[in-house]
Amino acid sequence: MVERRCRYCERIFQPSKYRPAQTVCSEPECQRRRRADYHRQKMAADPVYRQVCRDSPQKWRSRNQDYWRQYREQHPAAVERNRRRQHTRDQKRRLRDLANNNSVFDLKHSAAGVWLLGSGLQDLANNNVARAQVWVLEALPLRKPPASESCKQQPPGAVTASAG
Ligand SMILES: [Zn+2]
Repeated sequence: MVERRCRYCERIFQPSKYRPAQTVCSEPECQRRRRADYHRQKMAADPVYRQVCRDSPQKWRSRNQDYWRQYREQHPAAVERNRRRQHTRDQKRRLRDLANNNSVFDLKHSAAGVWLLGSGLQDLANNNVARAQVWVLEALPLRKPPASESCKQQPPGAVTASAG
């Protein structure tokens, strides 16, 4: 396990496995100082950030109507990444709702336990005292290949006839 010294309180901590580059411990006071320093630096160095902070959101949007449209056009990878992250957040929320809303079958008081499988289930698993007999499986949505690929995959001559 990697250990690191917090640059604010100077105590030893273990960086989160999700943020291996973490240099500040998770104490609320240290995190508050980290955010305040980040904000100060950005205000000094980043004119767009400065403008966003000073404007009201509406004012900023009307002044920068094309900003996000252009950003999306110029950064398709970022758009795709955001889309995936949003999808993951949606999935997590659905699973949390499922765990919290057990009116039909109370997982925590059931004699059966639960195995939680799939991505994004850590939060649920940590909140669950049940032992496993029942498996909760989340089906992954079927991925449709891009249109061009599916055309190539059709055997030659296999034309889908449309009735009518
Ligand atoms: Zn600290």
